[in-house]
Amino acid sequence: MIDVQSFAAGQWTNPGAGARNIASAITGEVIAQAGNDALDVQAMLSYARDIGGPALRKLTFHDRARMLKAVALHLMEHKQTLYDLSYDTGATLSDHKIDVDGGIGTMLVFASKGRREMPDGHAYLDGAPEQLGRDGQFLGRHICTPLLGVAVHINAFNFPVWGMLEKLAPTLLAGVPAIVKPATATCYVTEACVRLMLQSGLLPDGAVQLVSGGLGDMLDHLDCQDAVAFTGSADTALKLRSNPLLLERSVRFASEQDSLNASLLGPDATPGTPEFDLFIKEVSREMTAKAGQKCTAIRRIMVPEPQIDAVFDALSNRLAKTTIGDPRLETTRMGAVVSASQKRDVLEKAALIGAEAERVFGNPDDFTVEGADKNKGAFVPPMLFHCAAPDLAERVHDTEAFGPVSTLMPYRDLPHAVKLLNKGNGSLVASVITNDPDTAREITFGAAAFHGRLYFNNRQSMAEATGHGSPLPHMVHGGPGRAGGGEELGGIRGVMHYMQRTAVQGSPDILSAISQQWVPGSDTITDRAHPFTRTFTEVALGETFHSPAREVTLEDIETFAHFTGDTFYAHMDEEAAKANPFFPGRVAHGYLLLSFAAGLFVQPDPGPVLANTGLDNLRFMEHVVAGDSIKVRLTVKHKTPRNDEYGEVRWHVTLTNQNDQAVAEYELLTMNAL
Ligand code: NAP
Repeated sequence: MIDVQSFAAGQWTNPGAGARNIASAITGEVIAQAGNDALDVQAMLSYARDIGGPALRKLTFHDRARMLKAVALHLMEHKQTLYDLSYDTGATLSDHKIDVDGGIGTMLVFASKGRREMPDGHAYLDGAPEQLGRDGQFLGRHICTPLLGVAVHINAFNFPVWGMLEKLAPTLLAGVPAIVKPATATCYVTEACVRLMLQSGLLPDGAVQLVSGGLGDMLDHLDCQDAVAFTGSADTALKLRSNPLLLERSVRFASEQDSLNASLLGPDATPGTPEFDLFIKEVSREMTAKAGQKCTAIRRIMVPEPQIDAVFDALSNRLAKTTIGDPRLETTRMGAVVSASQKRDVLEKAALIGAEAERVFGNPDDFTVEGADKNKGAFVPPMLFHCAAPDLAERVHDTEAFGPVSTLMPYRDLPHAVKLLNKGNGSLVASVITNDPDTAREITFGAAAFHGRLYFNNRQSMAEATGHGSPLPHMVHGGPGRAGGGEELGGIRGVMHYMQRTAVQGSPDILSAISQQWVPGSDTITDRAHPFTRTFTEVALGETFHSPAREVTLEDIETFAHFTGDTFYAHMDEEAAKANPFFPGRVAHGYLLLSFAAGLFVQPDPGPVLANTGLDNLRFMEHVVAGDSIKVRLTVKHKTPRNDEYGEVRWHVTLTNQNDQAVAEYELLTMNAL
C-alpha cells in the first residue's frame, strides 16, 4: 500500500482526511491512497510565489535550460523506477516509453531550445525594434518576462509523467514555479517522478510542488500573475474554467481536453499501395496504444466508400493480433484501462456510439485476457464500430469513449471528407494518409481551422514519421472548440504561455538597457582596442569599431567579376546596366562590398575571434559605383555564451559611402573565445 504524499511548502505530507483509495488496473486491488483535505493551499501558493519564483527568475534562460537538461538526465537514469510503478496503471512497457521517455525527451528538447533560441538573459525579445519617431530616437519593442505568480498544472490520468513534464519544462524555462496536480488514479507514478526531481537537488526551493489528491480551493486564490494549465475531460474543463474568481481576475486558463480525432485514408491510397498498409498500421496502433487512452487517439476513421470493406478486413485482421493481458507479460500488446470506473465509462460511451453505429469488431463480453483475472482488472477489448450514415449521426462525432474504441465511416469525395473531419467541432489532430499533394492541399484549406495539428503521411515520410498520436515538443499541441481552444508546447511558443508580452517604448539607450541588446541609435563605445582583440567576456555591448575608407575602382569590379565568374551585366556593361531601373550604370557587386568590408574590419593576427559563423539580415541599400568609397562600422549587438570555451557575438555592421549614406547593413556572427 503506497501512501502517496504531496509536496507542499517544502514538506512531504501524508494522505489525511478525505484520502481516496487507488486500485491497480490489473488486479483491482487497492494499492495506494492519496489526498488530504487539510493541505494548506495558501502556504503552497506563497511558497511558490515568494521562494520559488524569485529563485527561478534570478537564473537566466540558459541557466534554467541547463537545469532542465540535468533534471531530465537524472530522470533518465532512474526511469526504471517509474516503469515498475506504471504497470499497475494498466500500461505496457511500450506505453511507459511513450509516457516516461516521451516526457524526459520533451524536457531535453526544451533544454536545447532554451539554449539555442532564447537569450542568456532575463527577457525574451519578440521581434525587432520598431522605429516610432522620424529620427530613430523613439523606438518600441516587444519583450516577454516571466509571470510573477505560480502555474497550477492539472493533469489527466493517462500520462502521469509526460503530462507533468510537458507542462513543467516550458514553465520552468520561463522562470515560473509550478504546482502540479496529477489525476488521482495514477498520481503514485507522478509522485515518484517528483520525488526523483526533488532528490536530485537540481531545482531551487519552491520551483515544484505536488498535490496528490484534491486541489481544495486553490483556484479561488489565484490572480492575474498566475496561470492554470488544465488537461482532462471537456466536462471538468468547463467546470473549472467557469470559476467566477478566475474569470473576474483574468487568470490565464489553458485547456487541453478530449476530442474526436480523425484519420482519413486518401482517395489515392487504394489496397496494394504503401499508403493503404500504413493507414491500417497507424489506425490499429492508435486504437491500442495506452489501451486507447490517448487524447490524440483516432476515434473516427474515414475512408473512401469503395474501400470500406477492404479497410474493415485489414484492420480487423490486425486488431485480432492484439493480445490483451497483464502488461508485465512480454506477449501482451495491450494492457487495461486505468480503473474499473474508467472501464464502465468506456462501455457506457461505446453503447451511445452503438446506437448510431454497428459494432463490427470486438465484444466486451467475450474476449481473452492473459495473465490476469478479466473480472477483476479493467480490461476492455479493441472495439470497432461502423457508421454507414455519418452525416446523420451525432454521437460518433461527439462522444469520446476514452479507451480502444473507434468508428469507421465512409466518405464520398473530398468536400464530404472535409465536412466529416470538421464535424468533431474541433480536434487535437487529424491525420491524412495520402500520396497526393492536391488532396493534402484541399484538406488543409478545408479543415486546418478545425484542427490543432494536421499529420500527413505517405511512402516518402513513413520511415521517419513520428505517428498520428505523438504530440512533439517542437510542434503545437492543442486544438480549437471541443479540444479546449488551448495550446501547449510548440517549442518556445509553449514558454510564452507563462510570460507576459509587454510593448516597451522609449529611447534607444533605454531599450538597449532593458533588452540586453544594443539597439541602433544608442550609445557606442569607441575608445577601446580593436574588438577582435578582446575576448567574449571582455567585449561589451555597444563596443564599436570604425574602419578607414576604401575606394572602389573599376579595376576592383572587373577583377572581382573575373575572379568569381560573376560577370552579370550590371557590373560589366554600362549601357545594359543603365537600362536596368535599379542602376545608374555599372555598379560594384554586393559581395565585393561585403568582401571589402571584411578586409576593412579584420584583425589578421591569431586572437579571440575563432570563426565567422554566419551573417543575418543582409540588405543592400544603395549602389556603389567606381570612384565611390566605403567604410564600415561594427558594433557589438548581442552576446550568447555557447560553452566553456567560446560564445557567439552578434555584430551590427553598417557600410556607408563617402556621403555617409548606408550602403549595406547586416548582422555578422562570430565565435569568440571566452
Ligand atoms: P478528468 O476527470 O477531467 O480529470 C482531469 C484532472 O482534473 C484530474 O487531475 C482531476 O483530478 C482534476 N479535477 C477533476 N475535478 C476537479 C476539480 N473540481 N478541481 C480541480 N481539479 C479537478 O479527466 P481524466 O479522466 O483524468 O482524463 C481523461 C480525459 O483527459 C480524456 O477525456 C482525455 O481526452 C483528456 N486528455 C486530454 C489531453 C490533451 O492534451 N488534450 C491529454 C490527455 C487526456 P482527480 O483525478 O483527482 O479527480
